[in-house]
Amino acid sequence: MKIFKFGGASVNSAAAVKNMASIVRNYQDSPLIVVVSAMGKTTNRLEKMVPGVNGPATVETLMHELKDYHYEIVNSLFPSKQAPIYGKLEELFSSLQNQVSLSPTSYNYDYDQTVSFGELISTTIISEYLNTIGLDNQWVDVRNIIATTPNYREGHVIWEQTKKNAQQLLQTSCNMIVTQGFIAGTEIGKTTTLGREGSDYSASILSYCLDAESMTIWKDVPGFLNADPKFFENTIKIQQIPYNEAIELAYYGASVIHPKTVKPIQNKHIELHIKSFITPDAEGSVIGPCQHIVPETPLYIFKNNQVLLSILPKDFSFIAEDNLQIIFGYFAQLGIRVNVMQNSALSFSVCMDNNPVLLEPLLALLRENFKVRYNDGLQLITIRYYTQEIIDSIVAGRKILIEQRSRTTEQLVVPEKG
Ligand code: ASP
Ligand code: MG
Repeated sequence: MKIFKFGGASVNSAAAVKNMASIVRNYQDSPLIVVVSAMGKTTNRLEKMVPGVNGPATVETLMHELKDYHYEIVNSLFPSKQAPIYGKLEELFSSLQNQVSLSPTSYNYDYDQTVSFGELISTTIISEYLNTIGLDNQWVDVRNIIATTPNYREGHVIWEQTKKNAQQLLQTSCNMIVTQGFIAGTEIGKTTTLGREGSDYSASILSYCLDAESMTIWKDVPGFLNADPKFFENTIKIQQIPYNEAIELAYYGASVIHPKTVKPIQNKHIELHIKSFITPDAEGSVIGPCQHIVPETPLYIFKNNQVLLSILPKDFSFIAEDNLQIIFGYFAQLGIRVNVMQNSALSFSVCMDNNPVLLEPLLALLRENFKVRYNDGLQLITIRYYTQEIIDSIVAGRKILIEQRSRTTEQLVVPEKG
């Protein structure tokens, strides 16, 4: 059994869906589970339709846009208006209409009940299309397979239950299953999600539970690159990466895979391939049980829109265990991830993503006990396998606010360029 994951960009138009189908066709001899994200930027649009986020007029406009976008794809894929997809889609859009018309309850709960429609719609279209062109497959509602706790927007997987549920997938007579990434379900049948960009993780959960022979993420880049091409001109494709290295890179913010993706497949020694859906015959990258990264080359991760807080005691105390415990308590309470930290006797500095929704309440809590200063508009740069020359060229004369260096990794917080 192989597991494939196709992200939003790989199914963002009728042409993209046809391309995806041609990839799947090449693998139809072996049992396949195809995990698919919402089409294009659908999740972003659905986020704005969560009850309470926008007024009814805006939601109506967004609903029109969402329908137009999907119907354009469907009209091109299914020329016959008698095709069953039209009825199915109408039903999905009418359930979505009901959902977005509800009064707001709790944001995280409403969020999951709403944004999950992106994946339900995309997989319904894709499964129908593949069946129409002779690629027999069964559509599966993954909410009955991946079981999570009711932590809405960040469901924690209940592994035992999920493993049991996943066995049902082996009983199907079809060689191919098409199912949703990103979404899951609770014990009492409520929809949850696994966090933004969570479809990679979905594929990894299924790979783990079914002892997959391999997992492949199909992307718009040729593989795992040594830097994000958005920030860097001359990127190098990495051929092979040890699991632990991939975990470190995802943790530091490499956007090519979701940070939680690697651990489950590492535990089962399953290889994870990253391949281009544009050049599907090219080799791509492999994350696996190898010892070294090949080729050995510096790796760069850039995170923009960072804020650096300097936290100082108001009284005569030092920044020691007791104060740190209070500070970390606030971060944990608000679910804020610390990207880099540094402390001295009199101050504690923390670099985090600049998300005003979380920053405001954090500052309010901190200011009860501490003096807080902050700098925004910063960039966090992580360089694995650095040299001094590389650091100097990347910093390019900018003022360094924080610098941390280990044997393998250099991290710098500097003002964003421009
Ligand atoms: N559709 C979801 C998102 O855009 C999940 C994913 O694409 O992985 O975050
Ligand atoms: Mg995606």
